[in-house]
Amino acid sequence: MAFKISDGCVACGACEGMCPVGAISMGDGKFEIDADKCIECGSCAGACPTGSISQE
Ligand code: SF4
Ligand code: SF4
Repeated sequence: MAFKISDGCVACGACEGMCPVGAISMGDGKFEIDADKCIECGSCAGACPTGSISQE
């Protein structure tokens, strides 16, 4: 059940600094979560102003 960033991402970057393991980075037009690094803490989801991060 990894966390994932949807197309609603406006690339504000707020989530990137919330991740304790550095799993979030800028991708192609939006931010992305590296599923291999994510420990599913949920910190990023609460920080997203557009509600674009959810658990699959
Ligand atoms: S759920 Fe936690 S570990 Fe996973 S990307 Fe978000 S902040 Fe990082
Ligand atoms: S906080 Fe939300 S809108 Fe901002 S970069 Fe992250 S996923 Fe995109």
